Amino acid sequence: MPRFVIPGNPIEVAYGYEEDPGLANVFLSVYDQRLRYDSSASKEVNDVTHQVGPGDGGGCYLDLHTGRFGFGTQVDDQTMAVYLKRFGVTEEEVESLPLRVPKPHVTSSLAQVRQGACPMCRKPGTKRCGKCGSRAYCSDTCQRKEWRVHKAFCSLHPFPSKPAGMRVTAMLLPEKEKHPRIIHVELQKHLDDDMDEGVYRVVHLPFLNPYLGDDESAGGICSQFLKGQPIAHLAQPIHLRYRDSFMLDGSAENACIAKLFGALYEGDTLGAAHAALWRGPLVALKSQPIPTSESMDPDYVDLHMADVHDVLELLKQYGLARMSSKA
Ligand SMILES: [Zn+2]
Ligand SMILES: [Zn+2]
Repeated sequence: MPRFVIPGNPIEVAYGYEEDPGLANVFLSVYDQRLRYDSSASKEVNDVTHQVGPGDGGGCYLDLHTGRFGFGTQVDDQTMAVYLKRFGVTEEEVESLPLRVPKPHVTSSLAQVRQGACPMCRKPGTKRCGKCGSRAYCSDTCQRKEWRVHKAFCSLHPFPSKPAGMRVTAMLLPEKEKHPRIIHVELQKHLDDDMDEGVYRVVHLPFLNPYLGDDESAGGICSQFLKGQPIAHLAQPIHLRYRDSFMLDGSAENACIAKLFGALYEGDTLGAAHAALWRGPLVALKSQPIPTSESMDPDYVDLHMADVHDVLELLKQYGLARMSSKA
């Protein structure tokens, strides 16, 4: 990440761009040390810190305090250029920044990873992970860099074999364990009686009680309907299911998700902010694309090794959307 700092105490101005297209592209970060998250400060103070902070990923963004990754308010190229100049970045320097981001940027590059591009730099991946084969890297350096995150998923390989019966392969993010687990969720036949005029449809619903507890009201999000926008680069929809009451029922912060985000953000406070959104156990399932609306029960299919990183991507995109809507 090329990053340039214009010093000035206690306000630090930094700008630059992310080379990882999964992150925002050009950024301007106005980092006021006095606005910084501080574990010794009161909840009220840190709530304000949150509100002036994380926003959406995407193209250009402004950011007030969130540090290294700084997902702030997303703005267009022109607005970004104005602020860059206003904060003392020279005209020539602004010209040299990759402000013109081709629109399907994130989508296409993450699709490239699926097709074998290096997940760290998007160069052609020449060497696959020797253990799981699900990621290809351009070099040992990139492979080492991604290992912090990849190791949690790599260790899932090979998946345990599926017992007989109507079951789908899914991933459990346990509440109290640090590592994800592959599970085989039983599918139960139901008649979908939502339809009018006596037209019923047979649906197969995942029986999640063994993983989430006996709570009937399992909530869920789906990558195809996240904030009205699908995460297009995921090959097929990923669903996250959880106990609806997880914020109220005394569930602990999800240890597995905390570890994954800790690795993704290398101890940055943004990782902790993501992790704080999730309590209790979660189950990630994959389905066929959903033709019409979210209420339609999808056809669940087996999760494969190639999909496991998508689960973290969904958690990340959802967290960013949540944090930006709070600001
Ligand atoms: Zn690479
Ligand atoms: Zn691997």
